[in-house]
Amino acid sequence: MLKLELDSKFWGLYDEKIPGLLESYSQNISTDTDELDEIMDYIWDAGTCKPPFYAVIPHLIYFASNVDFDIAKDLWSNIGIWVCRQEKFRCSVPEEVLSIFDNSLRYAEKKCAEVLAEQDQIDSYDALYLFPSLFSFSKHAFGYMALGSYKEEPEGSDITACSQEHEYYVTVLPTGIVPYGVEEEPHIIPSVDSKDFEYPFENNNNGWNCFLDRIENKISNGTIPDNILSHLKLARIILANGVTPNLPMRFAFSLCGSLLYCQSTVDSACKMFHGWDVMKCTTCGEEYPFYEHWSIGHY
Ligand SMILES: [Zn+2]
Repeated sequence: MLKLELDSKFWGLYDEKIPGLLESYSQNISTDTDELDEIMDYIWDAGTCKPPFYAVIPHLIYFASNVDFDIAKDLWSNIGIWVCRQEKFRCSVPEEVLSIFDNSLRYAEKKCAEVLAEQDQIDSYDALYLFPSLFSFSKHAFGYMALGSYKEEPEGSDITACSQEHEYYVTVLPTGIVPYGVEEEPHIIPSVDSKDFEYPFENNNNGWNCFLDRIENKISNGTIPDNILSHLKLARIILANGVTPNLPMRFAFSLCGSLLYCQSTVDSACKMFHGWDVMKCTTCGEEYPFYEHWSIGHY
């Protein structure tokens, strides 16, 4: 089952208005309605997933799957942002509700990937939410990193920290990551070695292979700089196998960058490729790759 029926007993756990609200929203699906604002108030509060979240999200996924892309794209982005934090708030939610919720994420991963793969070109503002949302649906922590922390508008300012938790602000630019307030200073995108790529694939329901044709086309086009090509080749291996929560973070940056490179702008892609940049702590001088910064307690 993709979603809880509106007469399910589980709605009794939550505000009795919710099923009616979903019913009425289904008559007029848009990202600019009072109903959606009301639904959001029931499920989400500044980074916290409230108890009805797990029952409501499958309905929103169903709605996003059944409207045109110009409406669906904002719904998918919102769902991706909300879902990237879901792991923390599951403890008191009934098993049956969680099981439907988890199924709906697998459906969202496949459905949203298909819709994105069909688009010729995706506006970079949208794409920087939509592709990371796929990682949220796959329960990969990159979704949280990109949507909950990494990509703040307009320039991607963020906090990074060394292993001793010395934190400082940086700005993520298409030319590289620089300390906040420091002038842009072009860095070369690090190349990656596909031989380095090893992780236990276990996704037998791969929703990501719909992007393979496009990445093949890019790779065979022959005019791509070697460093970027190395990320695309790595992405091709991942796409053929699917994304699991175990995919190492650095490879998630390569994959997301490669998808942006193929379907959005080079600038948006480069922001992701620079996730491999080496940072130097301004307090103790430790050097570490940016892609590791989040793991010190931001999640
Ligand atoms: Zn330090």
